[in-house]
Amino acid sequence: MTVVSAFESLTVSEPELLSLRHEVRDFLEHDRQSHGWRPIVDSWMSGWDEAFSRRLADAGFTGVTVSPEYGGRGLGFLHRYVIGEELIAAGAPVAAHWTADRQVAPSLESYGTEEQKRELLPRIVAGTLYSAIGMSEPEAGSDLAAATTRATRTDGGWLLNGRKVWTTGAHRAQQIVVFARTSPLDTAHRHAGFSQFIVPIDSPGLLVEPIVTIDGLHHFNEVVFTDVEISDSAVFGAIGNGWTQVTSELSFERSGPDRILSTAAVIDATLHAVDATADTALTAGHLAAKFLSLRQLSVSVAGALADGRDQALRAALVKDLGTQFEQDSVDTASDLLEDLPPDQDLTALVTAGRTHRPMFTLRGGTNEILRGMVAKGMTAQ
Ligand SMILES: Cc1cc2nc3c(=O)[nH]c(=O)nc-3n(C[C@H](O)[C@H](O)[C@H](O)COP(=O)(O)OP(=O)(O)OC[C@H]3O[C@@H](n4cnc5c(N)ncnc54)[C@H](O)[C@@H]3O)c2cc1C
Repeated sequence: MTVVSAFESLTVSEPELLSLRHEVRDFLEHDRQSHGWRPIVDSWMSGWDEAFSRRLADAGFTGVTVSPEYGGRGLGFLHRYVIGEELIAAGAPVAAHWTADRQVAPSLESYGTEEQKRELLPRIVAGTLYSAIGMSEPEAGSDLAAATTRATRTDGGWLLNGRKVWTTGAHRAQQIVVFARTSPLDTAHRHAGFSQFIVPIDSPGLLVEPIVTIDGLHHFNEVVFTDVEISDSAVFGAIGNGWTQVTSELSFERSGPDRILSTAAVIDATLHAVDATADTALTAGHLAAKFLSLRQLSVSVAGALADGRDQALRAALVKDLGTQFEQDSVDTASDLLEDLPPDQDLTALVTAGRTHRPMFTLRGGTNEILRGMVAKGMTAQ
């Protein structure tokens, strides 16, 4: 049972982190005034604004965990947590650099070659690396080990063939990190024989096809690889170590403030719009209490990740609870707004929250699958 019950009691209120939080808040306030962006739902997926990412980088708030030798500040994951929390809570348009900063940077530090680190980490720090993640396939979503995209050895490198789906941002990214089979399937060891490759998006034979969502927007893609030639320098980490690499990366993806705060813009706007009555105070209190508990769990995972400890199960639990909170918060906002006079901006935010609602518990691994992982982890103790 200890595997999930022993979350550590941590705060992110040390003086250095508090001062960083205020710096980020000041930046956001001034930047919003100067550039006029508005808080949006799911800003880490929907708010693609390359100029914003560069301004954020100029202010020193991207790639903060990257080592100084690659241009970063060498700060800890709790620093990154604080910055991320402020950005998502403000609904700031961070999507362009988000995946590279959140996932690719720690993986590069752990598994990248010196050449990859020198080329890519400074661009993450500059907020100018836009990366897509190519894991899911039409027949391999929850069951990622069923992936059939294959990289075959050639004289000078590798030949990539296959198809990825739900590839967020691939139509704007410069590269895609591809999870592919490099050894034939061994049914007794399905997770073995996978590797990762960093593939330039403009590689000949790579086709990015849009998948348009119900609201008419284009965030996702299908990415098709037909005899895409890739060099050995594109191998990310060790050949055959792909499964270990993607699962370690997923803890960073699953446990952060972006799994709790995607609807912060809706909550904030709704609570500002409603009159203070006993009923609304009770509802606001419930939201705040749930949020604070979740945040404590999320911060605890961030602290343990910072110490290099395996947090796969706790990260899964945080994502399950955090994304349910995101969904519930949209329902709560809708209920509270029923009695209010129509307000175009607020209605647009709540509508975006409703449209994105189903995605919260799917992306990053569905909650059903995560519960299975947690249950197995608990019984294994
Ligand atoms: C907003 C969003 C962004 C995404 N971005 C990316 C991205 O950038 N790159 C990428 O590679 N992927 C991405 N994905 C894909 C995402 O990781 C997959 O959608 C997810 O893993 C589920 O796979 P699937 O859609 O194929 O569903 P399926 O695996 O087909 O599952 C369908 C349903 O069956 C349930 N189910 C399946 N197996 C089990 C089981 N064993 N026990 C209980 N229930 C089960 C699932 O919970 C789900 O409800 C994104 C998805 C979303 C929604």
